[in-house]
This record gives sequence, C-alpha cells and structure tokens, in this order.
Amino acid sequence: MLMDKYETPCKNAITLKKQVIVFVASSVESETLQKHAAAASHRARSSPGIPLDTVHGIRRKGGEVWHRGSNDEDWCYQTQFTCDHKCNAPEKWNHVNGDCGGRSQSPINIVTRKTLKDERLTPFQFKDYQKIFRGVIKNNGHSVKVEVPHLSTVSGGGLPATYKAVQFHLHWGTNGGPGSEHTIDGEQYPMELHIVHMKEHYADLTTALADPEGVAVLGFFYESSSSANKKYDPIINVLRSIKSTNDNTSLLPISLAQLIPSEQNMTSYYRYKGSLTTPSCTESVIWTLFEQPIPLNMDQLRMFSELKFQDGKPMVGTFRPVQPLNGRQVYRSGGAVILASSTLLVAAIATALGLSQPI
Ligand SMILES: [Zn+2]
Repeated sequence: MLMDKYETPCKNAITLKKQVIVFVASSVESETLQKHAAAASHRARSSPGIPLDTVHGIRRKGGEVWHRGSNDEDWCYQTQFTCDHKCNAPEKWNHVNGDCGGRSQSPINIVTRKTLKDERLTPFQFKDYQKIFRGVIKNNGHSVKVEVPHLSTVSGGGLPATYKAVQFHLHWGTNGGPGSEHTIDGEQYPMELHIVHMKEHYADLTTALADPEGVAVLGFFYESSSSANKKYDPIINVLRSIKSTNDNTSLLPISLAQLIPSEQNMTSYYRYKGSLTTPSCTESVIWTLFEQPIPLNMDQLRMFSELKFQDGKPMVGTFRPVQPLNGRQVYRSGGAVILASSTLLVAAIATALGLSQPI
C-alpha cells in the first residue's frame, strides 16, 4: 500500500527498539525474547510518556491514525510529515473528513488521449475580470490565498450557471520543481493557480459546497520562462512579508485578468467533476483546467518556497497526489489539442491559424 512508503521509517524506529531490547536480553531463551520484544513494542506504542505515538499531544487512535476528529485544520501535506512530527498527510485525510475518501476526488492525472471532445465546451464569458481591486494576501498555513470581492463572474464554457469569483490560491513544489496538483499525461507543472468561484446566488462557500454543482474552480498551470512576468510583481514582491502562518498584507491594486492568459488563449481546456483538493474534500466542484500555461521565471517560482508552514519549515510541496478517476469521463473543449505527436501538433496549429484568418 502507498501509505507504507511513508510509514516505514517511523515503524523502523519501533523495530530498532525491539532489536536493542533483544540484544540486551540475549541470555533469555528465544520464545520469551519474542514475548518481551512484543511487549516492549506494545509499550512503545501505548505508553503516554512516549511522544513517538502522539501528534499535537493527542493519543494515536486505532494504532495507525493521527487525528483529533473532523477539524479541517488538522491535516498536512506529505512534505510536513516526519517521524518527529506526525500529522495527517494526504493518505490519512479520509480520517480528517470522510469525503476525502470519496469516489470523485481531485486532483487527477488527465490522460489526453482518453478525453472526450465536447462541442458544448465553448469559450467562457468573463465579466469584470479586468476590474481592479485591492486584495489582502494571506499565508494560511497551507498556501497563500487572496480573497476576491465578488465582482468578477464567469459563465458559458459549458457551466450550468453564472459563477462569481470568491478567492484564489496556489499550489507549488520545491524551488520551482514539480508542484501542480493536476497533471497532464503524467507531467507535473511547477505551480497551479485555483480561482475558486461559487454560483452567483450563494452568499458563502459553505452554502455553495452543499450543491453538487455549487463551486467552479478555474485551474491554470505555470511554466518556467526565461523572462520575468511583471504582471505578477504585486504578488511575488509581498511574499517575503508574509512568510509566517497567519501573516497577511495588502496587495497593490490588481485584476484577475492580469494573472491569467488572454481570453483568446483560454478556449482550450479540460472539464471534469471533482472535489476540493484539501479537507473537507467536498465533491461539489466543476473543474476547468486550461491548456495554456502562465509564464513565470525561476526566480519568481522559487520565491514561493520562501514561505513557511506553521512549524517554521519551508512551505513546499503544497499539492495533493492525484486521485483515482473511478470511471469519470474527462472532456476537452473544441480547442484542446491532444499532444499525440509533434507532427500532429504542427498540423493542428496550421489548421487553427488557417481558420482564424480574418474573413
Ligand atoms: Zn487549490
């Protein structure tokens, strides 16, 4: 099982104790030895005085799960888990919230040759994405998040309603290494932007999440570029002032439009139904992943790794591993290209250029 990969080092610590005890008690006959070792191991697991089995001072339940109940904050990314600091890493999120063990979870790997082209996935209508606002950017202990005044809306693109922007946040790797949540044909991009929207008539995200189509997230990948993307200066320049959990600061005026590709470069996208990618993992999200990545140079990408988790360690690897599709279909818009071969790609671009000539 996958979780063994992460638990083995800590189990080894117990095994090591067992071996030491066995070595010291070498005059005792073998069968008794095993009993002693088993008892010692049991004490190591159950004694309240041994921190090995506790997290945040909470006793380990059922011998393998570390949790305090359904507290949304009581989870961590794999990068935060160590034998000295046990926390509910992604494989244990279903113990934080049962929905994390559901059958329509996000993120996923998108296998482009298995996507189904859907003619209903037309271009989006973005309203007031150009509108300038003064946001507050916050280190919330898991990511950086910006609350957005509920002015900008998105509709079309096969969405069943009009959705208004609520907040955006990012997921990244280590020093510009792989860090996106979704992957395309197994490729993990350095970072991923999530602009979270809810149906226009809802007042808050909690209410929207009770509707199986209440939330629409627009996801964008980043790629490393040779030159800096100046449109990201307002965000990147303040990261050093929000290094610690709960730090926040005002952003210089920005618009959502300046953070994402131009509208004509947002006609190629993938669509599927999934969940939030952090606990509570609620399965109420219509996902859109745009093919066109956003460029940032390596210095810009690396700046995100300067942020700190609550325990002061670098905030890196803030992504959930990809989840099973469980029979879900991923659709692609008319514009999305299947990267079968470079020849095909060139042909597709040539066709697209031909079609886009002014009439
Ligand atoms: Zn996210």
